[in-house]
Amino acid sequence: MFDKVIENLKDDMLQTVSELIEFPSVSTQTNDAGMPFGEACKNALDYTLSLAEKLGFRTKNLDGYCGYIEFGEGEEMVGIVGHLDVVPAKLEDGWSSPPFEAQIRENKIYGRGSIDDKGPVVASLYAMKAILDSGEKLNKRVRLILGLNEEEDWKCIHYYKKIGEETPSIGFSPDADFPCIYAEKGMLSIRLTHPFSIPNQEILDIDCNHNALNVVPKYCSITLKDKTSGDVQKFEFTGTAAHAAHPDLGENAITKLVEFLNANLDKNLLENEYTFLRKLYELDLFNIHSPKFFSDTKIEDESGILTSNVGFIDYKNNRLEIGFNLRVPVTTLLEEIKTKFETLAEIFPDIEIKFTSEQAPLYVPKDGYLVQTLTKIFNEKTHQNLKPIAIGGGTFARAFPNMVAFGANMPNQKDMCHQVDEFMDIDALILSSKIYAEAIYELAK
Ligand SMILES: [Zn+2]
Repeated sequence: MFDKVIENLKDDMLQTVSELIEFPSVSTQTNDAGMPFGEACKNALDYTLSLAEKLGFRTKNLDGYCGYIEFGEGEEMVGIVGHLDVVPAKLEDGWSSPPFEAQIRENKIYGRGSIDDKGPVVASLYAMKAILDSGEKLNKRVRLILGLNEEEDWKCIHYYKKIGEETPSIGFSPDADFPCIYAEKGMLSIRLTHPFSIPNQEILDIDCNHNALNVVPKYCSITLKDKTSGDVQKFEFTGTAAHAAHPDLGENAITKLVEFLNANLDKNLLENEYTFLRKLYELDLFNIHSPKFFSDTKIEDESGILTSNVGFIDYKNNRLEIGFNLRVPVTTLLEEIKTKFETLAEIFPDIEIKFTSEQAPLYVPKDGYLVQTLTKIFNEKTHQNLKPIAIGGGTFARAFPNMVAFGANMPNQKDMCHQVDEFMDIDALILSSKIYAEAIYELAK
């Protein structure tokens, strides 16, 4: 119903995406008033809000933490949640053109943020513009919420809630995949520390290059000094990095280290502190599904099977620290998983167990109005018959209840988020804007 109008907005859309890519809006922490996430984020938000005003929308800047663009009248509000911050990028990483200069090649727009999430934000904004100009009457207001700290700690959304801004009654986030994500696993990060030593060896260092917990570590090393001979030896292990939501796609360097120690250290030398690591291994904690450890817990449902990523290891003050990042099926309570980890204290009285972060799962019924409506619109517009999906990762849709992730990455297209030579296909940009227009209209009419 809005297709023609959106096709006519194509040049404007491309120009807006290009201009937005020019802001190197990596979210940083500052104490400067009005720009808590740095100048580039501030400029990207100012640019977008002032453009939206010119297009005829109401806008509000929430002290530089976040902003929104709104139109329509009504008691209720449909929310669209996207973000303008990006992950870092450098030409030296292997980009074919400078990451913060938009370039169009082969009908694709290249640049950091093109698909995550500046392109989809622009597609949503022009979808709103098409509805606004059509003069169609809506019963709800429509609000595009722009975060500036999505790639970090979501402080933008926390601030939005803290100052009492309105919660949308329904909506979507254009920051993941089509057709529509109705279930996202829960997330839990755990750090275990325990005294640790190795028989006859002095541990000089254990290092994993400060690997982030949500990434499968691709490197790990241990440096040992033989207490008898004084020889120093460094052992290095390499794996393959992958997102912690898919540990099966990676190869874990820390697990290789543990397997190496288990194989090479004498089992009979029962130095109590070493048995910590061997025991964790025997309990199955280095297995990505840890079935033995969770034998009396439900670890699989329609959202998939529990996965665990050993993402961090460190050695300090004679204590070993190991970090895990778990993705928990939507119908299993995070509390149950935490209780399970707490039982480790019965085996290891000196253990310290810290739950460093957690996120409840997202689950919006597959047969409910929101998921059915969005999936149907996607299928109609693309002449497909796809089903809504469940994932292990977490998307920005968790910002509010009754919200799901909806595009803009097309099914079967390589996911370019956070990648070198990130791009958004121009036909996909226009198509997603048409889909968003239809979806916003349907949810708000
Ligand atoms: Zn994103």
